[in-house]
Amino acid sequence: MRTLTSAMVKEFALRQGLDLVGVANIERFDGAPERMHPASIMPHAKSVIVVIRRILRGNWRGIEEGTYWPNYTYFGYHGLLNSFFIPMPLYETACFIEDFGWEAVPYYPGAPEVMPPDEPIRPGAVAPDVHLAIRIAGMAAGLGEMGWSKVFMTKKFGPRVRLHAIITDAELQPDPLVEPGSLCNRCMACVKGCPSSAIPHVKEGRTVKVQIEDKIYEWGDVRMGRCTLSYHGGDPAVSPFIHKSFPGYEFDASRQNITEDMAYKMCWPFSKGSWRRTEEDNSGYIIEGHAKICEWGGDTSYGIGGSRGCMRSCFHYLEKQGRIEQTYENGEFIKRPRWLLPNRTAENNQ
Ligand code: SF4
Repeated sequence: MRTLTSAMVKEFALRQGLDLVGVANIERFDGAPERMHPASIMPHAKSVIVVIRRILRGNWRGIEEGTYWPNYTYFGYHGLLNSFFIPMPLYETACFIEDFGWEAVPYYPGAPEVMPPDEPIRPGAVAPDVHLAIRIAGMAAGLGEMGWSKVFMTKKFGPRVRLHAIITDAELQPDPLVEPGSLCNRCMACVKGCPSSAIPHVKEGRTVKVQIEDKIYEWGDVRMGRCTLSYHGGDPAVSPFIHKSFPGYEFDASRQNITEDMAYKMCWPFSKGSWRRTEEDNSGYIIEGHAKICEWGGDTSYGIGGSRGCMRSCFHYLEKQGRIEQTYENGEFIKRPRWLLPNRTAENNQ
C-alpha cells in the first residue's frame, strides 16, 4: 500500500494555489441526512477533504462604492472562482490522491435546497442528486465555523471564502474542530447591514443547530427568500439596474415572506430573461444590467446584492477588531457612507 497522509495532501493542495485545506473523517457526518451525506456518493468513503480559496476583498470594492458590479460575479463568484480557480487545483489534488491508489471524488458544491425530491434509482440506495452541505463539511474538516448569518467563517479570511471538497476512501488524519463561537461573536453587524432583513436578530431566537462530535454549532435561521431576492437581483434597494429598467417600480424585499424557491423563480427570469425590443426599452432584456452581469460572468449564477451585511459588514467589523489574520495597509474596508437605493416603502434603509 502506498502511504498517503493528510500532510502530503495539504502540502500538494496548497502548492496548487488553494488557500486552506482541512480533513474530516467520515464519522463526523453521522448526523447528516442521507441525501447530504458523502457516503451516499461514495459508500466506502473514509475522509472528506474540504478546500478553500479566498474571495478577494477587492472583488467587492466596486459594489461597496456603488460604481462597478461585474468583477464580483466574474472573479469572486460563479464566473471564475467557483468554476475555475478552485476546481483546477481541486482536480489536481484529486489526481494526486489517485496516484497513490485511492479513489477521489471531486465535489462541486451545488445547492442541496434546489434538488427536487426524487425516487432512488437502485433499491436501497439514496435518491439522486446527493449534495453535501458544503459549509457544514467545512466545519467537520476543522476549517472554521458558521457565522450567525450562515456564512462560513475562517480565522484567516473571515467570511471571504468559497469551498469545494474531495471525498475519498483514503484514511487521513482529521483536523481538530474549531471551537463553536470562537470566530463569530454574534456582534449583529450582519443583521444591521442586510438590506432585506433576511438575517434574524439573535433576540428573535431563530436558530439552526448542528452537532459534530461533542461540539454544537448554532447560527441564525436566515430567511432565505429575502436573502435570495436581495442577492440575485430582486431587490431595488441594492440594484441600480432595476431602477434603470423599471423606473417607478416599488418592491420592498424586506417585507416578503416567500420561500427561497419562490425568490429564485422571481429573480432568474427578471435577471436572465430577454424581451422584445421596444421603443421604450431597446435593450432586448428584461433588466439589461443584470443580464449583462450574468453573461459576462459565464452565464451561470450571478450576484447583484453583493452580500452587503453577511460578508461586507461582517469582515469590515472583524478586521476592525483584529479578529481576521489577513490585514490591509489601507485600513478599514468601508471608507465612505454606505448607500442603499429607495424602494419606496422600506423602513430599514440604514
Ligand atoms: S457580522 Fe459576522 S461576526 Fe458579527 S454576528 Fe454576523 S456573522 Fe457573526
